[in-house]
Amino acid sequence: MKRILVTGGAGFVGSHLCERLLKEKNDVICLDNFFTGDKRNIIHLLNNPYFELVRHDVTMPYFAEVDQIYNLACPASPIHYQYNGIKTVKTSVMGAINMLGLAKRIKARILQASTSEVYGDPKIHPQTEDYWGHVNPIGVRSCYDEGKRCAETLFMNYHTQNNVDIKIIRIFNTYGTNMHPNDGRVVSNFILQALKNEDITIYGDGTQSRSFQYVDDLVEGMIRMMNTNDNFIGPVNIGNPNEFTILKLAKIILELTGSKSKIVFLPATADDPTQRKPDISLAKKELNNWEPKIQLKQGLIRTIEYFDKLIKEGYC
Ligand code: NAD
Ligand code: UDP
Repeated sequence: MKRILVTGGAGFVGSHLCERLLKEKNDVICLDNFFTGDKRNIIHLLNNPYFELVRHDVTMPYFAEVDQIYNLACPASPIHYQYNGIKTVKTSVMGAINMLGLAKRIKARILQASTSEVYGDPKIHPQTEDYWGHVNPIGVRSCYDEGKRCAETLFMNYHTQNNVDIKIIRIFNTYGTNMHPNDGRVVSNFILQALKNEDITIYGDGTQSRSFQYVDDLVEGMIRMMNTNDNFIGPVNIGNPNEFTILKLAKIILELTGSKSKIVFLPATADDPTQRKPDISLAKKELNNWEPKIQLKQGLIRTIEYFDKLIKEGYC
């Protein structure tokens, strides 16, 4: 049995990761300040004696004896990370320093949940890990993009200078159950709008693209990366390479929900990446042929059922 710390464990991805780690008979500490996380995501785990919930902010030091640390704490949706940009940078940078300091002291392996946003509005397509990115350092997304880039820098330096056992994954757009209904990301927005027969809000002309990964595929990739051999530290892309325009996504969600919603086009948001698709050759090679198994419609059906239930229970 391993002792595992998951920062941001009450969030969307973190809650799925905690559940899976418990199923695999690990002892899990879930640390969260509940900025975007929700106790509802982990309430079913609270009776498990191998699960501990700690309310804590990663910008402050934390100590526990564990074997592995998954560092996920950070708001991930543009609305939430832009709400307090300074705090977002502090969470990424000071959170990384605190967790790397802990990993160094207790000799734990630590995995960073980095992001495709390190590539910014990419000029190469699909994105490979050796691409340095195209990021506006002072734009509205920079608190998140540059915070995550700096966190990667810290991870590499703690590794080369202090021999800390690190792993870095770059996560591409992920969706699924436990997403926050108000988190403003495209999949949750469109599903809720469609279920409520409200207008589907496309920012810009809808030709911008994303590649959507279902959360179970991400969790599988994360766990494989954490437990891969010592020599492979990443960064490695974890995402689903099937690319869709935002307009196409809206049409698929309308079809799956049978909604009467109309599509409306609103002004584009600043610095919105025009295209995004991971090259996952490295993940396939290094992570024992890892690749996404759940395709878009299948994952959307599960997510639609989840939000439909939340609406019926009066949560949104
Ligand atoms: P989320 O907002 O649902 O989860 C983040 C969690 O971190 C929340 O529970 C939140 O309360 C917690 N948190 C935020 N600031 C904190 C702080 N200072 N101290 C302690 N806890 C804090 O987002 P998510 O989609 O689950 O993302 C998880 C991680 O994966 C993030 O680091 C994100 O950057 C990364 N990621 C996610 C995606 C995606 O598409 N979901 C894509 C790329 C990267
Ligand atoms: N988007 C949209 N309508 C919405 C929410 C998002 O058109 O209601 C677009 C957004 O402009 C972006 C894409 O969908 O081009 C993905 O947005 P999201 O916030 O989910 O993630 P990110 O931009 O971080 O990839």
